[in-house]
Amino acid sequence: MSKLVLRNIKKTLVPWNIQKNLKQIQITSADGCYLISDKKKIADFTSGSMAVNLGHNNKYILEAFNRINSKGYSYVPSHMSTYEREKLSDNIINLLNPSYNKVLFTNAGADANESAIHLVNEYFKINNIEGKNRFLSLNKSFHGGSSIGASLISGDDRNDVKKLFYKLPFETVIENPSFKDEGKKSLNMFEDEFKKQDVAGIIIEGSSGTAGCILYPSNYLIKLRKLCNDYNVKMICDEVMSGWGRTGIMFAHQKYNINPDIITTAKGITSGYAPLGAVILSKSMSEIYNSNPILLGLTYSGHVLSCAIANNCINLYTADDNKLVSSVEYKSNILNKKCNEMLNNYNMIKDFRLNGLLGCFEFSLTNNEVKHLGSYLLHNGIHCLTMRNCIFIAPPLVSNIEFIIDTLNKMDELFFKFQKY
Ligand code: PLP
Repeated sequence: MSKLVLRNIKKTLVPWNIQKNLKQIQITSADGCYLISDKKKIADFTSGSMAVNLGHNNKYILEAFNRINSKGYSYVPSHMSTYEREKLSDNIINLLNPSYNKVLFTNAGADANESAIHLVNEYFKINNIEGKNRFLSLNKSFHGGSSIGASLISGDDRNDVKKLFYKLPFETVIENPSFKDEGKKSLNMFEDEFKKQDVAGIIIEGSSGTAGCILYPSNYLIKLRKLCNDYNVKMICDEVMSGWGRTGIMFAHQKYNINPDIITTAKGITSGYAPLGAVILSKSMSEIYNSNPILLGLTYSGHVLSCAIANNCINLYTADDNKLVSSVEYKSNILNKKCNEMLNNYNMIKDFRLNGLLGCFEFSLTNNEVKHLGSYLLHNGIHCLTMRNCIFIAPPLVSNIEFIIDTLNKMDELFFKFQKY
C-alpha cells in the first residue's frame, strides 16, 4: 500500500493530543468495514471507536435521513413528541426484561452516565434517604471524556490530571476483578466502601472496554448485584461500548443474569451514524417521576434524526431473530483462535482478552512503542484503537469471516516486520 497522506491540523483542537505540528490522515469516504483516505482503503478494525457496529454506508440505515428530510422538520423539542422518539423508547424497552419501563435520551455516552448519576442522587433525595452521595467505579474504567461528571468517575489515566481541578464524591478506587480469586478482592473492596453507608451508586461496564477488556469472573456481577441490594446501593451499568450485540448478546450484562438499576448506552445505538445516548430506567428508579419532575434535559437529547436512525439500526440488530447478534459468537471464535496463535508467536504480546467482538492485545512494550505500532498498522491499512499498552480489536458485527481472517493475517505480517524493525 502506498503511503497515506498526512494533513496539518491548524485550527481544530484535537482531543487528548498535544497540538503542535499535529498531522492526521483525512477520511474522504467509507464503505462497509473500510474507511477510505484518498482512495486508499483502511480496514476499520475497531469500528471507529467501537461504534460503527453495522458498518459504513449501509443503505437501510441511510434511508432514515430521507424519511426525516421528507417531513420537513429539522428539530422537535423534548416538550413535543415525535413518532420516532416514542417508537425508539418502545424498541429499547422491548429488548429488555419487564423490570425496565422508561428511557431518557441524551446526546452521547458521557452525558448518559452523568444523567444516571444524577438520577440516583434524585432517587435518594426524593425518598428522604440522607447521607448517600458517593459513587464508585473500577480502576482504568472509562465512562466519558466530558469535563467533570463522567470524566471524574472514570478510572483511567486520562482523568488523573483532571481530578486535581475538581472535588466531587466520585471515586475510582476499586480494583478490577481477577480470575485468580474469582473477583473476591474486588468485591471485598466494594463491600468495605459500602459499609461506610455513604455510597449511593456504582458504575460498571457490561463488559470492560478501554480498561483493557478485563473479563469478569463468572459469578462476579451476580455477587456485586447482591452486595448492592444488601447495602441499598444503585447499580449503573454502562453499555455504551459493550451494548448492541458487541459481545454476542444485545447488552453484555445480560450474559450474567443481572438487572442493573439503570443501563446507559450510546455508540452502537445509531451505529455511529448520528449522536445519541440513552439512559434506561428500571421501574423502581422511574416511578418517582410519576409525581416529581425530572431535573435533566439537553436541547438535542433524542434528536428526531438520531432516533429515526436508531430505529433502523434496531431493525437490523433484531432482524431474523437477532441473526446478526447471534453471528458474533462464531466470528469471535475464529478471531480468538488466530489472536491466540499470535499471542503465542510474539514475545512482545503479553496477553489477549476477548468477549464476543470486543477484544485487545496487551503488549509488554512501552506505551510509546505501542503507539508507534498502532500508527504502523494504520499506515499499512489497518485502523485499531490504541491506548496505553493495548491495541484493541473490535471489527464491525457485519464483518464477514474473510475480512476478519485477511485483516488478522495482514496484522500478523505487520507485527513480524515491526518486531524485526
Ligand atoms: N462509556 C464507555 C464505556 C465508553 O467507552 C465511552 C466512550 O468511549 C463513553 C462512556 C463515553 O461516550 P461518549 O464519548 O459517546 O460520550
